[in-house]
Amino acid sequence: MRAPNMLLIFLVIVLPARPAAGQDRVAGLAERAESQVLAIVGATLVDGTGRPPVEESVVVIRNGLVECADSAVQCAIPAEARLVDARESWVIPGLIDAHVHYSQTGFADGRPDALDLRERFPYDSTVAVNRLDPGRYHRAYLCSGVTGVFDVGGFPWTWGLRDDARRTAEAPHVAAAGPLLSTADHWLNLPGERQFLHIPTDSAVSAAARYVALNRSDGLKVWFLHGESSEDAAGWEGRVTLAGELADRWEVPLLVHATALWQAKVAVRAGADVLVHSVYEGPVDDEFLALAREAGTIYTPTLTVHAGYAQLAARSFDADAYGDALACVDTKTRAKAFLTDSLPGGATPEQIERRRVAGERRSAIMAENLRRVKAAGIPIAMGTDAGNPLTLAGPSVYVEMEAMQAAGMSPMEVLESATRTSAAAMGRLDDLGTLEPGKVGDLVVLSADPTVDIRNVRTVALIVRAGRVLRREDLEWR
Ligand SMILES: [Zn+2]
Repeated sequence: MRAPNMLLIFLVIVLPARPAAGQDRVAGLAERAESQVLAIVGATLVDGTGRPPVEESVVVIRNGLVECADSAVQCAIPAEARLVDARESWVIPGLIDAHVHYSQTGFADGRPDALDLRERFPYDSTVAVNRLDPGRYHRAYLCSGVTGVFDVGGFPWTWGLRDDARRTAEAPHVAAAGPLLSTADHWLNLPGERQFLHIPTDSAVSAAARYVALNRSDGLKVWFLHGESSEDAAGWEGRVTLAGELADRWEVPLLVHATALWQAKVAVRAGADVLVHSVYEGPVDDEFLALAREAGTIYTPTLTVHAGYAQLAARSFDADAYGDALACVDTKTRAKAFLTDSLPGGATPEQIERRRVAGERRSAIMAENLRRVKAAGIPIAMGTDAGNPLTLAGPSVYVEMEAMQAAGMSPMEVLESATRTSAAAMGRLDDLGTLEPGKVGDLVVLSADPTVDIRNVRTVALIVRAGRVLRREDLEWR
């Protein structure tokens, strides 16, 4: 057994060389590592399983998979390993955002139903650009320490994003639910593609569920918008229940957007594996908590997406919420976000104030419901709803995790949500979400302690994606 101190003397820091100016930086970083064995040595390890942090740890990744992640006593460093000195650092599993949308842009151009800018940004070309160039979002995720994402609703091409992650290390692992079954006949589709499959009848539910399942979807997503007071509440309850039965039959996880308590109960009774939003139209009750706990439903609070809509209405982009992490966002997406302040129109001061008060009330309900869900022992995933206006793919995870902490979760609980439970939400707990032998070697090296304050997750120094080392600074857009 080698003493850790002796060992550290022989550490060699091997990081990718800074590419020459003009070189495609990400492509340069994607070249295969010289060695197939990587050892990250000396960090405090938070492995995502919920066990206490391990100081002076060793993480060995062989051929992209974790071989050992533990104390230097438990994990010997293979002689052939390429070493990364991670003393005075923290290692966490790669983050997973369990609620994203690659069909949206992080600006109003992807949601003309919220603010119609189609004269300036035609919707068909906006979506075409997203389909043809998802790489900038992939890179923003990796830059932010996010190595897995679950796209829970969009155009059929989002299913193809799963292949990007298999082909290249330049993308996070992607799960995708494809077009969503919607209780509303939403117009936001394209001549040749739909992202919303309207389900006004049982046969429409069957046809939509069959279509989604036959595409080997990672989820059957239901956008449950009609409330208890709608004319046909019983009918919607029946159709969402049918969607659950079909999801079961096709062995596809059922994901439900349900923000009213009534809807959330229908969803959980229908067998929802994941609720992608908080219940926020009122407090959760004991019956809901018992149903969700019994069903093993994962609750994704998605606390911060509404703030982006409020900023859009007020014509005031809150860049400070992102801080330095905005550098992870590509220059075009960033420029559009900053365009917010100069857009014509906008709410009156009275409307902005009313919206602020309503937003605060909703946030208070979501925070209280999150505390109750947590106390009931219901698993909680971390999801941002990235792609919605001013909820930017990548760094929005920091804003969301900080809101979860502010609502009463401990930093360790937030970390577990953003890694292990989010991996479970995307159906990938077998190979992602924790640093345990046999899992994919996805991790983040931080330069400050995330267990004392979740804000320290912003201090990403290195990202390891299936054993490939990427430097944060090389993934930023300058
Ligand atoms: Zn969403």
